[in-house]
Amino acid sequence: MINRLTIIGAGLIGGSLSLALKQAGAVTHVVGCGRNIDNLIKGVELGVIDSYQSSIAEAVKDADMVVVAVPLGAMETAFGQIKGNIAETSVITDVGSAKGSVVGIAKASLGEQFNQFVPGHPIAGTENSGIEAGFATLYQNRRVILTPLEETSRQAVQKVDAMWQQCGASIEYLSVEHHDKVLAATSHLPHMLAYAMVNYLSGLNEHDEIFKYAAGGFRDFTRIASSDPVMWRDVCLSNGDALLEFIEGYKEELDMISSAIKDNDANALLALFGKAKSERDSLIGNC
Ligand code: NAP
Repeated sequence: MINRLTIIGAGLIGGSLSLALKQAGAVTHVVGCGRNIDNLIKGVELGVIDSYQSSIAEAVKDADMVVVAVPLGAMETAFGQIKGNIAETSVITDVGSAKGSVVGIAKASLGEQFNQFVPGHPIAGTENSGIEAGFATLYQNRRVILTPLEETSRQAVQKVDAMWQQCGASIEYLSVEHHDKVLAATSHLPHMLAYAMVNYLSGLNEHDEIFKYAAGGFRDFTRIASSDPVMWRDVCLSNGDALLEFIEGYKEELDMISSAIKDNDANALLALFGKAKSERDSLIGNC
């Protein structure tokens, strides 16, 4: 049971966490913190948060648990204001989509309170954002990855683990580096492909017809190009090295398909597609 939870950045991810914990009866009071007071008032009206604060320093003062759920580009400002304002017994966690950059910021900002910080990332989301986009079931049957460091307090890890379990999530543990590499491949790269495809096709003369005749597959594949541009700008800036490696690797795969088409090489095409089909069928299933 969390007595007082402070969510810095009560948008889709932070708001959904609050709703899930409230539904589970696992929190007594949730304080929302952000820049836009109108959003925070709306959050109270919608029952997403119980009260609000515009000052991070004030919002974290009496919190048992602080969840930092702002875009990656705003983490430095947020952690800078947490420093020195939380109790020794408080636990801090975050939800950022890349972990190396947040861990670096938290280490530099929190000093000796860094051991109270448990880096985290819920593998759940939608293409919508803001406090109104949150919903209580977002984390049910989803994974949350925690990337604690050697110095992270075991008790703090247990509390964050228990919090996410209350939301219906299962918890996985990875190193910071491994998280950033795996997520660059499975989440960050697909978003780049969706953004690039929509930009490329919408720039063509025939773009009206292309979008008019778009079938379900195109709609599914490009859905994530409707995601928040600020969030994805920040992901690219925070996890650029890992992401670039996968973009280069993907380009090589596309080149192989281009070459096979140019060479009229039926066997090569069959081999490329057959390999992909059997990999996907065995790893994910045929659905
Ligand atoms: P969101 O819906 O836009 O919410 C972000 C919140 O942060 C808003 O409440 C916003 O409120 C506040 N905020 C924005 N810029 C800020 C700034 N410069 N300083 C202080 N507060 C700021 O975004 P989200 O989708 O919940 O994403 C939040 C975090 O979750 C990000 O770090 C993202 O990497 C991570 N994440 C997202 C997903 C996803 O699919 N969306 C999945 C997993 C993890 P104000 O405008 O009122 O300040």
